[in-house]
Amino acid sequence: MSDYRKKTSRPANGYASRRPSSPNRGKKKGQESNLKAEDLQQQAQAREITNYVSERTFADFPIHEKLKSALAHKGYEKPTEIQDRSIEDLLNNRDLLGIAQTGTGKTAAFLIPIIDKQLRDTKPEAILVLAPTRELAVQIEEEYRSLSRGMNFQSSCFIGGTNINRDVDRARRRPDLVVGTPGRLLDLSDRGALDFRDFKVLVLDEFDRMLDMGFEKDVNRITSAMRNRKHTMLFSATLDKTQRNQIDRLLTNAVEVKVSSGEASNDHIEQDIIKIAEGENKFQVLLNLIDNPEFEKVLVFAETKRWVSKVRSQLSKAGIKADEIHGNKTQNYRQNALNAFKTGKIRVLVATDVAARGLDVEDVSHVINYQVPKTMDSYIHRVGRTGRAGKTGKAYTFIQD
Ligand code: AMP
Repeated sequence: MSDYRKKTSRPANGYASRRPSSPNRGKKKGQESNLKAEDLQQQAQAREITNYVSERTFADFPIHEKLKSALAHKGYEKPTEIQDRSIEDLLNNRDLLGIAQTGTGKTAAFLIPIIDKQLRDTKPEAILVLAPTRELAVQIEEEYRSLSRGMNFQSSCFIGGTNINRDVDRARRRPDLVVGTPGRLLDLSDRGALDFRDFKVLVLDEFDRMLDMGFEKDVNRITSAMRNRKHTMLFSATLDKTQRNQIDRLLTNAVEVKVSSGEASNDHIEQDIIKIAEGENKFQVLLNLIDNPEFEKVLVFAETKRWVSKVRSQLSKAGIKADEIHGNKTQNYRQNALNAFKTGKIRVLVATDVAARGLDVEDVSHVINYQVPKTMDSYIHRVGRTGRAGKTGKAYTFIQD
């Protein structure tokens, strides 16, 4: 494989180092990461890997028979680690702090107890799920729908970039479960279509990401308006001191469950650096890589929306079936691009971090960082898009010499 392009294991240095305080809002175009690509690789490889195998199956769980059938129908036989370690406490209404990434089964970990309670209650309580990105919100609703199929519960997903009037109508119908991004939910509340006091149960998914994206105020507005909130589940991929105050305010006597994702492991992901020499055409290097038939399903990350569009349009011009997802694209567009990628209609998806966070796409053969990511966390999430479900994946990071 080494003849794709010269690769090196020498320390990656010599690229500009202006690091933004936040990876998202307010960043200037063209800012470069000050992280060394090699350090990223090493840290990612050093992450603890656990191949967790539960000793019990969902049949052993104290959950409703209908839910057991839905789980069996989805092919979920044994719980994942986060599910095994949190579901019973959640069934007992304990608050939860779950330190878990996408890929660990965290969505079902909170949805299983939620659906179980909805099945048992004569008057089920309305549930509110907050997610940082539109794609994640859509995925959560899809998982809810498939786990609650045939149970006659209504759900709605409220995200930016879609028709607000339709959402107003839907919100007025008081769905059993609402999932959404903070901005759109506040919009609906401001229009009087949604009353946060109606929700007793709250899930905050990818809380760290929510703060990263500048949603702190929005989240505070929502949680303080939820005067009847009595059960809160909070999930975060990372846990650092800056979040601690926020988390302590939101949770009461919470159970803490931390699981390792086993995603970015050197068992499943081969990581490599590709040095781009001064004056060398970086796009051509990308093209040479992608031209190789082994690159079946490729996720390319670029730092800004502009870069994403540029790389994508160059790929299209070169005759490669590609599309792009980033914050400037409508929700519809992003969903279509994602579906085309999932089903293999396009071979390459170019994305920004924000758009790609939480995506659950099977069988990504290669992840390419067109630029060095700005944070370790972002690197881990990106390379974790490949090498999933025991398959081998490859991740390449371009660095400018
Ligand atoms: P999540 O971390 O919630 O995004 O889930 C990651 C993937 O694991 C999704 O494709 C789920 O459908 C799948 N999944 C979740 N729970 C289970 C389970 N108990 N058994 C098998 N697959 C699961």
